[in-house]
Amino acid sequence: MLTDLIQQAGVVGAGGAGFPTHVKLNAKAEYFILNAAECEPLIETDKYLCRQFAPEIVEAAVEIGAHLEARHIVIALKQKYRREIEALTRAIQEKHAPIAIFPMGSFYPAGDEQIMVQQVTGRSVPERGIPLAVGAVVDNVGTVKNIYDALHGEPVTEKFLSVTGEVARPVMLQVPLGTPVLSCIQAAGPKLTEYALIAGGPMMGKVYTDPAEIAALSVTKTMGNLLLLPKGHHLAVQAAKPLKRIIRLAQSACLQCRQCTDQCPRYRIGHDMQPHKMMRGIFWEPEVRDPEEYLRLFGGAANCSECGLCEMYACPMGLSPRKVNQYLKGRLREQGLDAPKNPSPQAREANLSGRAATERLEARLGLRDYALHHDAGDSCILLQPEQVTLPFSQHIGKPAVPVKAAGETVRRGELLAAAPEGALSAHIHASIDGVIERVDAQCAVIRRKG
Ligand code: SF4
Ligand code: SF4
Repeated sequence: MLTDLIQQAGVVGAGGAGFPTHVKLNAKAEYFILNAAECEPLIETDKYLCRQFAPEIVEAAVEIGAHLEARHIVIALKQKYRREIEALTRAIQEKHAPIAIFPMGSFYPAGDEQIMVQQVTGRSVPERGIPLAVGAVVDNVGTVKNIYDALHGEPVTEKFLSVTGEVARPVMLQVPLGTPVLSCIQAAGPKLTEYALIAGGPMMGKVYTDPAEIAALSVTKTMGNLLLLPKGHHLAVQAAKPLKRIIRLAQSACLQCRQCTDQCPRYRIGHDMQPHKMMRGIFWEPEVRDPEEYLRLFGGAANCSECGLCEMYACPMGLSPRKVNQYLKGRLREQGLDAPKNPSPQAREANLSGRAATERLEARLGLRDYALHHDAGDSCILLQPEQVTLPFSQHIGKPAVPVKAAGETVRRGELLAAAPEGALSAHIHASIDGVIERVDAQCAVIRRKG
């Protein structure tokens, strides 16, 4: 069965938080949507996969669609990705595949699955719900490529990722999972000795500035991009701002102009997410003791996707509604308060595209130069590191449990850590042939043999 093969191969969502794919696909759905929109600036990975593996992606999409009994199989990507659309269209025609291409505008966050579902189906996903609630399953293009491999007996052992920013040569890499991030950076020729690193996209990726922390990072199943920036770049500075200062600024400088709300993608698909109200209320938040009152004032924060559009793009004062929402979500959790969910939101605007155009966003983020000079093209460098470090938690849910001991020899693709029986989790496989140097509950280190 398709989901068994996917489970055995350890496939998880390659473009997001790493939700185990066999669980997601244990469903029937009207739509199967393949997410190839790659909406964060500078990331090249999904586009590369679409160009290089279009036949494999199309073949797997048909299999998944049949498994889901989907009436519509749709590949959604930006209209401006002409070469990718050409490659996919050719593969669809050659295979006579019942797949439609859905061209999207060039805006952020076109690749947010809730925004994509709204655009493709016209239906808004319920607040804090999943696309299946409106008859859709969405998988990222990297996940579908991994599903193709799983259906051919290949577990997930490698990753494609782009390296860009302050580097001599922006590159596309194909690396075994667990490859040291520093090796990836070296392959692109870093221009700086000290830098800030964003693992992921500039909007939602995690920012690292401590060299020791960067040196400890290895490539995981969900890491699709590395972006090097000067330490003083405003994305690094913004990420380092202490929460106290963010809240103080919100209290003193918010104009209540509503730009953050009007541009909030979740507000636009009809969710109760009005960041300007959170910014207004944060002033007296510590005084609100009554749970009902707290939910009335701040419950909407639970609907924030943390896409960052409000703080990186919309706010004319450079304030951080996203971080205020993060804080409020934490406070809701601390108090055990569960905000009510609207099960059938209605989009406030039918056409969500146009406002946060990717090019304008790049300029506002101070990334335009990298974008203009970035051309990873069709070449891809294969790295073969001497050592890999494989964390056992590269997915949502419980960590996998090691099934091998230090000193044992493993082959690439052999099971290294198994998902606990009955738990939401995913298998981890050895990504190179070698000897296990060290293993504990968190990770295994394998040294290449020979
Ligand atoms: S981060 Fe800002 S723009 Fe994004 S969903 Fe949250 S409030 Fe809306
Ligand atoms: S956009 Fe900025 S200034 Fe305007 S309401 Fe939102 S947080 Fe306040």
